[in-house]
Amino acid sequence: MTTPLYGRMMDVPLTVPSLLAHASRHFGTTEIVSKRIEGDVHRYTYRDCEKRAKQLAQALIALGVETGERIGTLAWNGYRHLEAYYGTAGCGAVCHTINPRLFPDQIAYIVNHADDRYVLFDITFAPLVDVLAPQCPNVRGWVALTDDVHMPRMSTAASSYEALLAQQDGAFDWPPIDERSASSLCYTSGTTGNPKGALYSHRSTVLHALAASLPDAVGLSARDCVLPAVPMFHVNAWGTPYAAPLTGTKLVMPGKDLDGKSLYELIETERVTCTLGVPTVWLGLLRFVEEAGVRFSSLKRTVVGGSALPPAMLRMFRDGYGVEAIHGWGMTEMSPLGTLSTLNREQTQRPPDEQLRLREKQGHAFYGIDMKIVGEDGRELPWNGTTFGDLHVRGPWVIDRYYRNDASPLVDGWFPTGDVATIDQDGFMRITDRSKDLIKSGGEWISSIDIENIAIGHPGVAEAACIACPHPKWAQRPLLVVVKQPGNDVSREALLRFYEGKVAKWWIPDDVVFVDELPHTATGKLHKLKLRELFRDHVLPSARDGRN
Ligand code: ADP
Repeated sequence: MTTPLYGRMMDVPLTVPSLLAHASRHFGTTEIVSKRIEGDVHRYTYRDCEKRAKQLAQALIALGVETGERIGTLAWNGYRHLEAYYGTAGCGAVCHTINPRLFPDQIAYIVNHADDRYVLFDITFAPLVDVLAPQCPNVRGWVALTDDVHMPRMSTAASSYEALLAQQDGAFDWPPIDERSASSLCYTSGTTGNPKGALYSHRSTVLHALAASLPDAVGLSARDCVLPAVPMFHVNAWGTPYAAPLTGTKLVMPGKDLDGKSLYELIETERVTCTLGVPTVWLGLLRFVEEAGVRFSSLKRTVVGGSALPPAMLRMFRDGYGVEAIHGWGMTEMSPLGTLSTLNREQTQRPPDEQLRLREKQGHAFYGIDMKIVGEDGRELPWNGTTFGDLHVRGPWVIDRYYRNDASPLVDGWFPTGDVATIDQDGFMRITDRSKDLIKSGGEWISSIDIENIAIGHPGVAEAACIACPHPKWAQRPLLVVVKQPGNDVSREALLRFYEGKVAKWWIPDDVVFVDELPHTATGKLHKLKLRELFRDHVLPSARDGRN
């Protein structure tokens, strides 16, 4: 082996603080606008943000926080949370974003597992902190993200963030950081077993942000204004807090108000061009604009992921409001973005129906992510759009190990996502199900997502979930659980008829049950595990009378 001829280029590490430093220096006057928990709207610039993030870094160092130590956050999307992202990672610590929607016991488990030194929290979560603090003895201090005037009354001894910052002057140089060191930590929501930590590095975070900013991914630029409706406590708001400074995009933070009216007003007043969020949030937004009879004057596109984008929603955004809904897929273990459903030059020349069918899928991988589907024997399956198998991925922003767990989750160097998917000749991936949510009827698989998407296309359906129900003959048969659209009294029979001609006969659910609401996980997805428990004893009419 001969020694390679090395390139003669600078070895500049890819670090998280370099993103904010870039925005501060080159887009110094670009705004960050935040709806505050205190009730008002706060505005400042990337330059202001960097100064305060540096003050936080100084404060953490003064508190004795050391390289690699974890700092927890329990906070909504807002400028102080953004400062926490950069102030922690920028001084070599790790920003551990905690999902406040989890059960307190689970949060305590996460704080203790991560061994958080300090926890920064929005005042909304003061009662939660009072529950957590006695269970988390290793946390040295709890810091409320507010000023002295707004400090909540609490049983826990907490300090104010603004008082902490006021002791520092911000005259601080970001220290050199090894790009492979950890910058942030995020636990999976634990819908399956105990939450597991994905520990991102500076390098993986910057590469993910670069790729996510590309025109055929989220597509951010300095002419855009982005509003992440996906929370910063859920996989780093899909990387927006990193991608926006990288591209110099104006950033609008909605705080805790994620209802349709609040989001619409913020989108309009700040002239937002791009948003990101889960389908449930967009359902609320679309319902509001429909009822209020209003239009979007600046919004051009919205990236929808976290769970499947119902085709009806995609069409509603496009045909009703001229907004391009881009379907995306990813997971905590992937930082999270993996695929996005944008078309290439040739695909945009195809008949409209075919274009729509492509855009309804979860999309193609963008540079950095490779994916494949494999069968039960581990062999790769063809990309023909019909064969489905376990989806495996790899890339520089995919985990290699879970935090504090040495067992490798990888199979032949690939990460098994737990999703089942098809990939077509165009390289467009379509999630059929999570492997444990698939319904196996007489040895053949039925996609619960497909069944749900059709139900949601019925005007009488507000939300729908499809789960497997035990069946004496077929082992499992699909049961549809539906929340009715207010004012529309759709019947069981009408819904079942709605499936005719849309799917194979044996895919049509055996029964429909109407409920007032469906259970959701802490990340807003349908809680299929809980639903299956709730309907464990449900007897399908076909099981009762021996029909098939
Ligand atoms: P959790 O902790 O619930 O796994 P994640 O946010 O990491 O939280 O969830 C990732 C999972 O969410 C994926 O593996 C997939 O099952 C589901 N998911 C994400 N985006 C989509 C999508 N566009 N369509 C269908 N499922 C999706």
